[in-house]
Amino acid sequence: MSAPDSPPTPAVHLRATLPRAIAIDGPAAVGKSTVGRALADRLGYLYFDTGAIYRALTWLALENEVPVSDGPALAQLATAHPIIVQPSADTPDGYRVTAGGRDITDRLRAPAVDAQISAISQHAAVRAALLDAQRAVADGTSVVMVGRDIGTIVLPDAGLKIFLEASPIERARRRYRERLRRGESADWSDELASTVARDARDRGRANAPLVAAPDAIVLHTDDLDAAGVVAAILAHIDIGS
Ligand code: C5P
Repeated sequence: MSAPDSPPTPAVHLRATLPRAIAIDGPAAVGKSTVGRALADRLGYLYFDTGAIYRALTWLALENEVPVSDGPALAQLATAHPIIVQPSADTPDGYRVTAGGRDITDRLRAPAVDAQISAISQHAAVRAALLDAQRAVADGTSVVMVGRDIGTIVLPDAGLKIFLEASPIERARRRYRERLRRGESADWSDELASTVARDARDRGRANAPLVAAPDAIVLHTDDLDAAGVVAAILAHIDIGS
């Protein structure tokens, strides 16, 4: 209870200091990467896409013919082939990824990886094997980290948590356009089917399901472009400009 002479609580509270860690979660193709990267650039933060780690492990599993159903073997694969993500201006995603010393940046978005990644990322052993590396990124660095469970599991103390939503059709459209933009082949109905299937698996899995943290700000983005989403996030931060 307040003392009678204490000042009134302000109705609107903007953060007096910038949050050191900003978590952005949401379903496939909702625009987390584009928005996360732009936000990190704007604030001078490191941008870190945790999907790259799960993609790299999926590629490793396919390459080494490790069954996607074998969680412990997949976790061991991650330990045996360290996955390193480094910022790089010369790639479409803004980073390069090596696994066991081999640069696999241009393999991460292959349809074969998309098809198997949910099966691999659902294992508790896999998620545990990749957790410390993700947390280490935020240790001592101001970071915008994007993924599925950043606000709930990886950085539960993040100073700002954003959960992006958009309808499956809008997200499939974004991914379809993104593939064409990259010069890749794309099939609209495949894109929609894979978006819906991946959603169901990411939201329905027992370990670290895709869900907004109770203290996350949920933003619906169907009618917003990337700049609009970044502006909506910045509205929650007092950047002193
Ligand atoms: O974000 P992106 O589409 O690259 O993620 C690919 C897949 O990796 C997701 O569908 C999800 O299965 C998995 N993932 C995850 N946890 C994260 C990031 C990605 O389970 N933090």
